[in-house]
Amino acid sequence: MRYIEPHGHMVSRTTDDYIDMATAGCACVCEPAFWAGFDRSSADGFYDYFCQLTEHEPKRAAKFGIPHFCWLCINPKESEDVKLAEEVIGLIPKFINRPNVLGIGEIGLNKNSRNELKVLELHIDVAAQHDQLILVHTPHLEDKLKGTRLIIDALKSDKRIRPERVIIDHVEEHTIQLVLDAGFWAGMTLYPESKCTPARAIDMLEVYGNENIWMNSACDWGVSVPLAVPHTALEMRKRGHTPELIDKVIYKNPMKFLSQTARFQLGPGSGGLNA
Ligand SMILES: [Zn+2]
Repeated sequence: MRYIEPHGHMVSRTTDDYIDMATAGCACVCEPAFWAGFDRSSADGFYDYFCQLTEHEPKRAAKFGIPHFCWLCINPKESEDVKLAEEVIGLIPKFINRPNVLGIGEIGLNKNSRNELKVLELHIDVAAQHDQLILVHTPHLEDKLKGTRLIIDALKSDKRIRPERVIIDHVEEHTIQLVLDAGFWAGMTLYPESKCTPARAIDMLEVYGNENIWMNSACDWGVSVPLAVPHTALEMRKRGHTPELIDKVIYKNPMKFLSQTARFQLGPGSGGLNA
């Protein structure tokens, strides 16, 4: 098996997790900028975090033979303070051309507030100015449908944004069609407690097809499973899906989306240890 982990918050994970991922066939990991579990007190905290994502974590991942890529932003949970967000967004151009940066993310909405929406628009503008891919976080539970609609409206109203260069993550049964119909990619997040279980993700693949869809673990500092993608691949095999289809969903699809930026290059033989 080979797979790409397109959404993992590796700064929160242990070296054991890297070993498990490498032995399961992880070809690379992509790390969106995220909330630390607590609010950072200043833009300086983000400066250090962006250094961690672009300098230090790639070195840690490389010790286990896993290429590491990242996305930059201030996440929606810290976007209520627009002045802080403006300062952080002002730092992004200093980092955007670093070799492992894939684009702007995970941006989006958390509580669907007016300030969050303003900060989302600022991020979309930065992405458009620098011709970057975008990775979007959608809100939880009852805020998800409304938030997904607001996010799609914000993206569609900026004519510089091409939907095929945007992935909208954490889709569920009631938002996946909306996202795909609007021309965006859809990400399914495999969580043990919320978002989407492996069984639900496979149900969605069976109903909505396997084009422009990827799966991720979104593993972070909370309850989450770094091997959720290979676990789901095993579940697909149990349900009788072909090795070709499984490879498409967990490797070729993320490869296709991410290859839209020239920075996404995997070295020879990096199909994971088992490829
Ligand atoms: Zn995330």
